[in-house]
Amino acid sequence: MESMSQLAWLIAAVCFILSLSGLSRHSTAPRGNILGIIGMTLAILAALFSDKIDGGYVLLILALIVGGVGGSILAMRVEMTAMPQLVAILHSFVGLAAVLVGLSVFLSEMRSVLPASGMDENAEAFIGPDLIHRIEIFIGVFIGGLTFTGSVIAWGKLDGRINSTPLMIPGRHWINLGMLVVCVLLGWWFLQSTAFGSELVALLLMLVISFIFGAHLVMAIGGADMPVVVSMLNSYSGWAAAATGFMLSNDLLIITGALVGSSGAILSYIMCNAMNRSFLSVILGGFGADNGSGGPGIDRGEQTYTSTSAEDVAQMLRDAKEVIVVPGYGMAVAQAQHPIHEITELLQKTGTRTRFAIHPVAGRLPGHMNVLLAEARLPYDLVLEMDEINEDFPDTDVVLVVGANDIVNPGALDDPSSPIYGMPVLEAWKAQEVVVFKRSMGSGYSGVDNPLFYNENTDMLFGDAKKSADDILQALRQ
Ligand code: NDP
Repeated sequence: MESMSQLAWLIAAVCFILSLSGLSRHSTAPRGNILGIIGMTLAILAALFSDKIDGGYVLLILALIVGGVGGSILAMRVEMTAMPQLVAILHSFVGLAAVLVGLSVFLSEMRSVLPASGMDENAEAFIGPDLIHRIEIFIGVFIGGLTFTGSVIAWGKLDGRINSTPLMIPGRHWINLGMLVVCVLLGWWFLQSTAFGSELVALLLMLVISFIFGAHLVMAIGGADMPVVVSMLNSYSGWAAAATGFMLSNDLLIITGALVGSSGAILSYIMCNAMNRSFLSVILGGFGADNGSGGPGIDRGEQTYTSTSAEDVAQMLRDAKEVIVVPGYGMAVAQAQHPIHEITELLQKTGTRTRFAIHPVAGRLPGHMNVLLAEARLPYDLVLEMDEINEDFPDTDVVLVVGANDIVNPGALDDPSSPIYGMPVLEAWKAQEVVVFKRSMGSGYSGVDNPLFYNENTDMLFGDAKKSADDILQALRQ
């Protein structure tokens, strides 16, 4: 039976690798998802039938039912706009699982080597797990602990339950460094000790510090850097799963964890590049960015804006030859992707080239806009990444900014006091006409005003983005 389980785990690992490669492209993403589902089903079945499980089936099946039903309800109920919070809280479960597995592996191995006569009199003779296995347990619990609290804080920030302003405790880098050093010393104690009680104390003390460390790391990261935090915690959760795999000697968990860990790290690197931030400065919480956390901003004097109507925008679109749509978080909130797709179809039919410009941090999740547009069945060849389309704005007649704000903020290029200064943005203002769909003059996620709204060639189309898009569609059809 064990060799069958090993084979099933190997096939599941291959399914996960193919799944990841499938998910890297729109056209192959559905196949990638199916392969992922097959891999996970195989992995669960192989674990259930593995020789390592000798009893406890009732508990296992109960856990499967509770987890499966709970997960399905969550997935069905979650709004697209609440996905980032859900992803963050799911990362925290992986971290907590790594902690619990680490503690239970340690305690059960201790119990198996402790003589029945009691531990005190035999404490000197106590050996416990071998050195490598101890290192696995210690590192696994450490990564799990910081992933758990870091993800819970990220969930709170993304859900608006915790203020997204970075917590800047004086000397915070020294505090972080101090916690790391203490953890290394506790690790030394844990590896050296031969007394059961003191090993456990070292492990639990390190766990408490890793909880504080994870929470402090994410508390210090400001709103504008949250995209990187989400991908970084994704990476941590992968390493936590890999550590669990080492503790349980489970190759599939090691492979899957390494896949998630490394792809999350690569994604974090890509997001940092997209925001022109150094990875170190983000994970250390505003390291070297103390001057950029929101200043008074450039004084732009008294600013006025003009508003427009759906009918006027429809006329503008009829006259245009080149149109670019810039979708943002507000499109996800309003669920405006379907009428926007219909507008695109109408324009294409009348010979107006209409394309979509995707900023890497648009929305609240890496790939958020791509998912929405794929859901609306928009042809993939109309969707272009920032680097592919940014130079085309000067030759564009109309730009429709649908619920986007920070990603089209010129202040990111010319206002050093802005928290998003240095982040490359979609240069929509270079087009002939810009129409911004939003409900008010309020700011975006980073909380800064957007000078684009006050430009002469910008018109504000106030209201819910779906309602505005429906009205434009109706006007175009008349
Ligand atoms: P922003 O959050 O900057 O702006 C969204 C705009 O949408 C708001 O100004 C809001 O204005 C408008 N809006 C909201 N609801 C509606 C609605 N129903 N109809 C019309 N408009 C609406 O979004 P962007 O996509 O431009 O930028 C993303 C931001 O999120 C960046 O700062 C990024 O760093 C951050 N972020 C990104 C993550 C990622 O992984 N992509 C993760 C975490 C954060 P109003 O209220 O006036 O309508």
